[in-house]
Amino acid sequence: MKVGIPGGLLYFRYGRLWNSFLNALGAEVVESGETTRSILTSGVSKAENESCLPVKVFYGHVLALKDKVDALFVPRLVSVKKNTHTCPKMLGLPDMAKSAVGEKVDIIAPTIDFHFGLWTNYRAVYSTGRRFTRNPAKIISSGIEAWKEHGSYLEKLTMGVDHKQALEGGSEQRLCEGRELRVGVIGHHYNVYDTFTTMSLLERLGAMGVDVMTADMVPETLRELELKKLPQEIYWSYEQEIAGAILACGRYKLVDGIIFMISFPCGPDSIIRVLCEQEIRSMDTVPMMTLVMDEHTGEGGFLTRIEAFVDMLRRKKDRAEADNRVVVAV
Ligand code: SF4
Repeated sequence: MKVGIPGGLLYFRYGRLWNSFLNALGAEVVESGETTRSILTSGVSKAENESCLPVKVFYGHVLALKDKVDALFVPRLVSVKKNTHTCPKMLGLPDMAKSAVGEKVDIIAPTIDFHFGLWTNYRAVYSTGRRFTRNPAKIISSGIEAWKEHGSYLEKLTMGVDHKQALEGGSEQRLCEGRELRVGVIGHHYNVYDTFTTMSLLERLGAMGVDVMTADMVPETLRELELKKLPQEIYWSYEQEIAGAILACGRYKLVDGIIFMISFPCGPDSIIRVLCEQEIRSMDTVPMMTLVMDEHTGEGGFLTRIEAFVDMLRRKKDRAEADNRVVVAV
């Protein structure tokens, strides 16, 4: 069976896991690859107008695979952590994919929901495996193998390995190389690692002599510590990670400045944006800028804002160093 994996949204987090699992089960995996202009255009023209940019991009990836595969793998992730939810748009992805491809292509959509016990989720994975093989040992070993691959991928992201390299199993290219300035680029994986929609932001910052710190690179213990200080628990799993990373970056001065990447019109991110901006302002430690992307975002304006932000950080750092020298001299 030829199974397609659309290269948008949660692919940036779980792509390696899904690919490895399906491959080990004996499926012929076809990925839609990186986002391109034509993928974006077809997604924007066919998806619901009110959808956020990543959902439109995802729609484009689904359409790109439509005539190449027998089935599409689009898991329904309801909750990936106890007492939290994913965004409602992610819950509807299998239905959206179905409406895009029609009856011709099957949708494989195991439901993962951590409101239920682990056993329910294992069963969902197992029944996906049963579509490819009747051998239980093969399903279990494929699952274990895929989980290991996933762990190694996530570990590389925490070490600052470039996302594309981490996906391919490499680890040479790093986002952090000990440069003089370090900027936190925080947001959903698809808002940070998609080279096309972010207009190669990470590479451009590297070329400007700036180290990048993503949410993956912020130690989990610091993120959790910050979340505990909030008056109310954040309802969404991935937003917890993002808010924790921004607040930890600010509190412990892990970076010289923070860029929060949001897609328009994202409900969950707009709520935590207000919360994070207020907290960072009250800490008064590092500057924070929010960049909102949509399909109309122009490269010129986008780059001007980044360059202006980096210039400001550089001047701020130079001034602080000059002040320090004066204090030492006195
Ligand atoms: S979290 Fe925001 S950007 Fe992500 S799918 Fe939901 S609405 Fe879109």
